Order: sequence, then C-alpha cells, then structure tokens
Amino acid sequence: MEALDVYFHNLVPYGLMTLLTGVIIFLISLNLIYRGFKAPMVRATFLFCICLVLWLISGGCMIIAPHFSFAAHLGRSFFFGWVFIPVAFLNIAYVFIGRKEKYLLVFFVLAVVFAIAALLGVIHEVHHNYFGFYAKLKFPWNIIINAYYFTVVGYALGLLYVEYRRASTSMRRNQAWFLWFGTSIGFMFGLSETNYVVSSMAGMEEMLITWRMHGINFFLQLLVVIFYVMEIISYHYAIKKKKFFIRFIKSTNVLYSLILMNLLLSWLMHRFAYPLFPWGHAGIIVAFLLISYAILRYRLIDVTDLFQRLLVYLVLSALFFGIWVLFITYTTNENTSILISILYGLLIVALFNPMYVLIQRFAKRVVFPKKLDYQKTIMDMSMKVVSVLDYQRLLEIINDTIVNIVGASSFALLLHDEESDAFMPIATYGVDSAHMMPLQPMHDLLRFVRLLNREIFKDDLEEDGEILSPEILTVFDSYRASFVIPMTYQASLKGVLFIGERKNNDLYTLRDVELLKILANHIVIALDNARLYELAIRDGLTRLYISRFFQQRISEEILNTIRAGRFLSFLMIDIDHFKMVNDTYGHQKGDQLLKELAHIITDQVRVVDIAARYGGEEFAIILPETDNAHAMAIAERIRKKVENTEFGMGIRQTVSIGVVTLDGKKASDREVISKNSTRTAVRVMAESIKTEMIQIADKALYDAKKTGRNKCVNGGITGM
Ligand code: GH3
Ligand code: MG
Ligand code: MG
Repeated sequence: MEALDVYFHNLVPYGLMTLLTGVIIFLISLNLIYRGFKAPMVRATFLFCICLVLWLISGGCMIIAPHFSFAAHLGRSFFFGWVFIPVAFLNIAYVFIGRKEKYLLVFFVLAVVFAIAALLGVIHEVHHNYFGFYAKLKFPWNIIINAYYFTVVGYALGLLYVEYRRASTSMRRNQAWFLWFGTSIGFMFGLSETNYVVSSMAGMEEMLITWRMHGINFFLQLLVVIFYVMEIISYHYAIKKKKFFIRFIKSTNVLYSLILMNLLLSWLMHRFAYPLFPWGHAGIIVAFLLISYAILRYRLIDVTDLFQRLLVYLVLSALFFGIWVLFITYTTNENTSILISILYGLLIVALFNPMYVLIQRFAKRVVFPKKLDYQKTIMDMSMKVVSVLDYQRLLEIINDTIVNIVGASSFALLLHDEESDAFMPIATYGVDSAHMMPLQPMHDLLRFVRLLNREIFKDDLEEDGEILSPEILTVFDSYRASFVIPMTYQASLKGVLFIGERKNNDLYTLRDVELLKILANHIVIALDNARLYELAIRDGLTRLYISRFFQQRISEEILNTIRAGRFLSFLMIDIDHFKMVNDTYGHQKGDQLLKELAHIITDQVRVVDIAARYGGEEFAIILPETDNAHAMAIAERIRKKVENTEFGMGIRQTVSIGVVTLDGKKASDREVISKNSTRTAVRVMAESIKTEMIQIADKALYDAKKTGRNKCVNGGITGM
C-alpha cells in the first residue's frame, strides 16, 4: 500500500494526461462546430464532447494544481460535466437508434435541476487526496444524483444493447456492439469513482487503508454490476419475445423500481463505501481502448479526417504558443511583454487561417495520400459520368466505380421507365436475376424514399423490434442491399440505387455514403442526358437514327475507312408502291407498316451498323468494315425477309435496295488524302466521297425500281 500511496501522491503525469484528453476533445468539438449542426449525430456528439471537456479539463487542472485558488470553481465545472454526461450519452444512443426521445427531456431537466442545486451550495466541499479533487455532495443530494446517474446510464446502455442484438447489417451490429460493450466496461470500472462523490467518508484525512475497506467497496460495486447485468438480461429475453420479460420491460413500474433500487445502492455506498480505488481508472482505460478500437475498425467517425485536423491544430498551437513562451521568458519589462502579447495576438489572428490551410494541404498530401486518392477517384468518376452520352458506356463506368472503387459486393440501379411506368433494374452486380423485381411508382419503398428524400439503411426499417414494412424489407433482401440512395432530378424521383455490403466485411463511413450520393446525383443527370441525346438523334416513329445523325456518322465512317484502308458499304432502301398502302389503308396503317419494317431492318443488321430513316419511306444503312459481296448479301437478306413477312391486315410489301461500297485503300492512295494534306482538305474530300456514294446508291435504287422493283441492285465499288 505504501508504494501505491507514493505513486499516487505524484499524479502530475496522470493529471496532464487527463488535461490533454480534455483539450483534444475540445478540439474535436471545435471540429464539430466547423461541420455545422445539421446532422443530429453531430449535435449529440457535440453535447457529449462538451460534458467531457468540462469534466476532464477541470479534473486535469485540479490534479495538476491542487492549491489553485479556483479549485472550488473547478470542482463545480467538474461536477456539471459529470451530471450531464449521462444525458449526453443517452442522446447519442437515441440518435444512433433513430428513435423518438422519450425520456430525454425529463432526464435533461433533472440534470439542470441538479446543476442549479450545485450552484446553490449542494457541493459540500471540494476535497482533495492523492487522486485529485472531488466535489463532495451534501446528503441526500449525493445519493439522489448518484441514483440518477446509475439510472440514466443503465437505461442508455440497455438501449444500445437492444440495438446491438437487433441490427441487421454487420456495420450497425459492430458499431452498436462496441458502443455498448466499451461503455459498459467503462461504466462498471468507473463505479469506484462515484464513491468520492457519494461516500460519507470522502474527505476524511489520511485513512489507514485496509484490505477490509477494499473488500467492502468491491462488494458494493459488485451489487451495482449484478444489478446492471440483470437489466441487460431482461432486455435480452424481451428481444427474444419472452412474454414475461416484455411485460417487465414495458411496465413503467420498472423505471420506478429502477430508481428506487439505484437510490438504495447509492445510499449503501454513501453509508459504507470508502473513498479509495486503484481499479477504477484501469477500467476506464480499457473502455477507452475498446471504443477507440471500434472507432478505428468500424469507422464510427472518420478518424483519419479528424486526426488530420487535430494534427494541424496541434502543430499550429504548439508553434504559436512556443514562440509566445519564448517572448515572455526573455522580456523582463512587464509593459513590453504586454505590448508584445497584444501584437502577437493580432499576428496570430492574421496568420492562423492561411497557415492552417497550408499545413492541412501538406498533411493531406503527405500523411493521407491513399485516402485522398480514393476520394478523388470517386469524384473524378462522378465528373466523368456526366460527360458520357453513350448509354452502354455509362453503365460500364457506373459498375466499375461502385464495384471496384467503392468496393460494394453488390448493387442495383433501378430507373423509372416512362413506357411501363415502373422502376426497372438497368444495371446490377452480384444480384440474383431471379430476384430482380420492377417496382411500381407507388410501391411502399418508393413512397418511403420520396417522403424522407435521403438514403435509407436496412436497419431503419425496424422500430422497437417490429419490422415497419415487410414489403420494403423483401425488396432490400432481393436486391441484397444494406442501404438505398434515392436519385432525384428536377424534383421527381427518377431512380434508386441499392448498395450491398462492402467486400471483406469492411464498412462504409458516412463519407462513403456522401460520395455515393454525389455519384448517384451525377448518374441520374448523365442518364437523363443520354436519354435526351437518344431522343434527339432518333426518329419518333421508327426509333431509327434521324437523317442528320446519319449524315454526320457517314462522314466519320468514311474518314475511318480511308484511314484504316478498309471497306465501307451503304444500303439505300425504298418501299415499293408505298403510296398504294396509304391510299388503300390510310396513313395510320402506313405509319404502322413503317414501324414494323424498321424492326425488321434493325433485326437484320449488326449492333455496329447504323440504320437511319433517310426520308419518309426510305431507309439508309451504314455497314462499317463490310465489303461489296457481304453488303449485297445483307441487302438480299433484308429484301427476302420483307418479302416473306406478313404485315398487319395481311398486307404484303416489298422493298428495293441500292448498294454501294467504298474502297478505303483506293481512296487513301489518292493524292489529296496523302500524309501532307491538311485536315480541312481531308474533310472536303470525305464530303465529296459521301455525295458520290449517295448518288451511286440512289442511282442503283432507281435502277431497281425501273427494272421491276423487289430487287437489290449493286452500284459497285467506288474510291474515286
Ligand atoms: P415507288 O417507290 O415504288 O416508286 O412508289 P412509292 O409509292 O413508294 O413512291 P415514293 O417512293 O415516291 O413514295 C412516296 C410516298 O410515300 C408518298 C407518301 O404517301 C408515302 N410516305 C412518305 N412518308 C410517309 C410517312 O411518313 N408515313 C406514311 N404513311 N406514308 C409516307
Ligand atoms: Mg420514296
Ligand atoms: Mg417508295
């Protein structure tokens, strides 16, 4: 015992540690202010931090400077921190769970009452021994406030335990487990600390410490622990739907008996406990380590981000403070030192922000390059997405970003389809296609998403152990999603993005979710752009490309063909005696026939071929990398297919086709397109080749018409 006494007599390092922890938490709360108070979790964490700051900074100061004349005031702020911590902690639990704050206001009002009482003199004295200072409370306030402390913390821990048991995604489960387990450990081991506030023997001079005293303390604390464990057991069996426990938990009498029980325990502590402990702080450190591990491993907060800011704050504070200390130390004249301090203060005001930005930029680049890379890649991808007009390419980029960069094990992108008026899966990964179901616009999930207009986690679907909507849960399960992001554009819901759990059991941080939301926003704009572009370049009736697009593409294809020295073929199709169809059956029937014919044409050509509606009932098809013989074969195939098709109302129809082929090699041998020619010259050349090709095809078509229709005529190979 002697050795312990000697060790604890010199508590300055311990006090410094406490003080430093307080300062760091203070910086964290500054950081929270910087992030704004929009998010409830940020507000809750801020309250918690402020309590810790009050508690730790005043505690640390009291330990370091026991003879400080403000010790009594520090004792008060220490006490305020201690009284509000349970409320703050409960607040975090509530926000984490996302439930209505049932008792929070009551507990908060009580805390305020106790705080005022302390101001009015409930604090009996601030006494000090080898563990520092403690605000000793007057009887019966000491046991009332302590009972309150036990009740609220026990209640908050119970809530977190329930959350841990119920969480349906691994992210929530792990977060809840560590919050609950870590804090429970801290609560239990920290119990011995309450002896100082409660014990009637606190403040007595130099007691002779005996093993018997430790035994009594241990026994009393064991009672509290047993009591807490019983609370958790009731929660445990209530979740397992054991009727007795459900009734027990739900009854309000339980809260009263809880308070009574805690009063009794506090009274026992007041009467019998001794103000001594070597164990308490060890437990708090274990709790601290556990929660820190959880924060790091399960990314409860984006620690690297926080750490990075802290680092900058610390470097800057040390720098400015160090210089100031040097100044003060080496100036003997008091007036000069005051003047210097004022000037120095102004200098800090002017320099702090630019230096902060400078150091942070350095820290980002040097200390956390990997993280920055990852965030930058996602942002780049988001930006890139918007400029892509090709639908298929767009889907590839989306898939690549979500699966390879973000690391989702599965995802599904559902988009509103105007035609069927349903949300259809247009891109998926890792989802069983048998389970993909389209969602009607009024589906519960979509209504819920519209209502909240934010991401929804699978865990949000449960409240008090009841599933809010089994229908919504089924959708989450079919798409293997752990959360869903709404994709809203121009104030209406255009789609939803389901994201599955991360690969390797890794977890998403809030930042990841933010990045995914940005990506989703860009995706919906990009898809809309692609859709508008498709609308602009396709004909409304036949869905084939419009003539203007065809003109543009054939110029490009001619250039490509000449560059590569390959063949390019081109078909011109005209329907035979189409006027008769219109005259006999009416224009509407004629339009219908055009539509069906367009279908036949698209079915007969490859994806790379470009089929356009050239005129009213004329079609043009560009066949890249196709020689004359193949082009003739394709033309013949189309002709035959049309001839053998029975259109609506038994109409039979035939087409005539003119074919032309460009020999790229022959064209590139020409002088104009030699290596020396300018871009404009090449373009002009390509335009004249285009005109000629169309003329030849037209001529061939005309020949076909003249020689009896329903035939393909070869216009031959050109190269000019
Ligand atoms: P052929 O080509 O065999 O010489 O005889 P045709 O009767 O098909 O003559 P032409 O190629 O000159 O076709 C012009 C007719 O095509 C005029 C018009 O009735 C019809 N037509 C053109 N565009 C449309 C359209 O968009 N819808 C409908 N229903 N008919 C159209
Ligand atoms: Mg015509
Ligand atoms: Mg015709």
